[in-house]
Amino acid sequence: MIKRIGVLTSGGDAPGMNAAIRSVARYGVHHKLEVIGIFRGYAGLINEDLRPLDHRSVSGIINRGGTILETARCDEFLAEEGQRKAVETLKRNKIDALVVIGGDGTYRGAIQLWERWHIPCVGVPATIDNDLNGTDIAIGADTAINTALEATDKIRDTATSMERIFVVEVMGRDSGFIAIHVALAGGAEEVLVPELSYDLEEMCHDIVEGNRKGKISWIIIVAEGAAKAEKVAEKITEMTGLETRVVVLGHIQRGGNPTARDRILAARLGAAAVDLILNDEFGKAVGVQDGEINAVDLHLAVEEKETVVEPFYRLIRILT
Ligand code: ATP
Repeated sequence: MIKRIGVLTSGGDAPGMNAAIRSVARYGVHHKLEVIGIFRGYAGLINEDLRPLDHRSVSGIINRGGTILETARCDEFLAEEGQRKAVETLKRNKIDALVVIGGDGTYRGAIQLWERWHIPCVGVPATIDNDLNGTDIAIGADTAINTALEATDKIRDTATSMERIFVVEVMGRDSGFIAIHVALAGGAEEVLVPELSYDLEEMCHDIVEGNRKGKISWIIIVAEGAAKAEKVAEKITEMTGLETRVVVLGHIQRGGNPTARDRILAARLGAAAVDLILNDEFGKAVGVQDGEINAVDLHLAVEEKETVVEPFYRLIRILT
């Protein structure tokens, strides 16, 4: 019989994590569960950094970026000794089940807790990279795209006025998800993503050709995992002789108020995670596929996800 649940956020923060915490806490309380907030992810489990969450303690956070529970990357938890300490904390505090909110690393931690230590765990996907399986979109990805898009729109204003080429670097070490969506939505001329090979010489040739026909500005979106914006800009200047500026958007993409879409997703997935626990379904992650809430095995959720980039890329090239 589950009476008390814990909730933590771990790994990279993502806008909408707070809305997910609020949903887990309030939906849990509604179902007569005690809810305990765990601070700084798995580090908070190891260090016993806990605080009960009631209805009031999650007031006024649905619209806030970041996470009130804070987040951390915790190497100590990778080792058996760290996990043992975490489990002892859970047992000592009579926490019967755990909701983890985060990305694939966070899920791997939950797999350990469930399979090795028999702690009932469920996952809620929150990562701006959107690289988890079992959900069409993770909490935070929509806000990150919109933040990067807003910045790109502003850059376009100056690019057009000053007749310049801008290389804009967005987040995505292994995934072109943010880059391809920002490029399509922002009307970028070119986009470089880790999933697709590219030819900088051909791109420069296109720029020279366009310039000859009177095209005055370019926006090139680069996912950080595809190339370094600085290097791309150097190459363009070297090959075309045209002034090229670099903007690395960096951490602004993690912050800011979550979009309506992220808040709604977080509200639905937080509640769905509590439902899984109430139904004794553990070792799973909630998600949304084709608009429907579902749950998949945590192992499946962390398998490599294929980001759909090719059809988007083709369209970007046609519409340029
Ligand atoms: P993001 O996708 O935003 O980077 P994430 O959840 O993937 O988020 P990670 O830093 O990869 O972030 O993982 C978060 C934490 O999960 C790690 O610091 C570690 O404590 C735990 N973790 C990751 N991998 C494992 C693993 N294989 N076993 C146990 N714990 C793990």
